[in-house]
Amino acid sequence: MISSLLFLVLLLLVIALFALNWLFEEDSPTSIKSIVHHINATSVLVVVAHPDDEQLITGLLIDAGADQNIRTAVITATKGEAGTPLPQISRYEDLGHVRKAEALKNTWALGVEYHQVYDFPDGGLKETPLSEIAAAVSAQMLQHKPDIVVTFWPESGFSDHDDHKRMGLAAETTITELRENPIDGYNGPTYIAYILAPTRAMSRIAGEAGIRVVANQPLANYSQDGAGWAKLRGWEIHASQRDYVQHAYGLPAWFVHGLYDKEFYYLIETQNIPLR
Ligand SMILES: [Zn+2]
Repeated sequence: MISSLLFLVLLLLVIALFALNWLFEEDSPTSIKSIVHHINATSVLVVVAHPDDEQLITGLLIDAGADQNIRTAVITATKGEAGTPLPQISRYEDLGHVRKAEALKNTWALGVEYHQVYDFPDGGLKETPLSEIAAAVSAQMLQHKPDIVVTFWPESGFSDHDDHKRMGLAAETTITELRENPIDGYNGPTYIAYILAPTRAMSRIAGEAGIRVVANQPLANYSQDGAGWAKLRGWEIHASQRDYVQHAYGLPAWFVHGLYDKEFYYLIETQNIPLR
């Protein structure tokens, strides 16, 4: 009697694990080992909004960072000063400084060569003139001359966050301008990879925002390993955000990153960036 009950409990647990894992899988993308090697990148520029946004793409970053032949750079638009500390580890007025340092430490651990954290207002990028943000992105593009830019899809921003959407738009705007008016012979990156959210999880457990994201983001065409171990290390480095995953998903980070173990991208040539 006890053994059959135990069997039933185990069976239900296995079914529940499969169901949870299914939430973080996608049917559309081709699974490849490496986005950056797939296109033979020599210079990668990541354009994101907040300290810890790089946590969404640790698989791509650690892969690029480990290759001596690839220059890897990240720009983060804000210091994350308007975020919620989880847990609180500093005075509130110091949160931006703390989060900036956490992001710099994390990308260093990922092997990223260069990381600039700007001081645009956290939560206020939508109200910041696009030209100001694009000027910063443009300066970095001319410095690093990436052949691929990794950023957010401007209509969904991974999580429907306006700051994320704004950075995707700033990156696209800069790329389009460079294509039309090359500077010093550089006409911008050949590729752009958009960071996409897992659609099943977003539409089922992320509420209204999640449903909007799925409705407004393209289908992923590539996936690669997400280096879950590096994400766990990243949450330790981001000490002020250490409990973020537990808070957002109601499950421990080690469990979530065990299931959510891939990264999904929409990779296209920049000549195919849609008109917004
Ligand atoms: Zn963010």
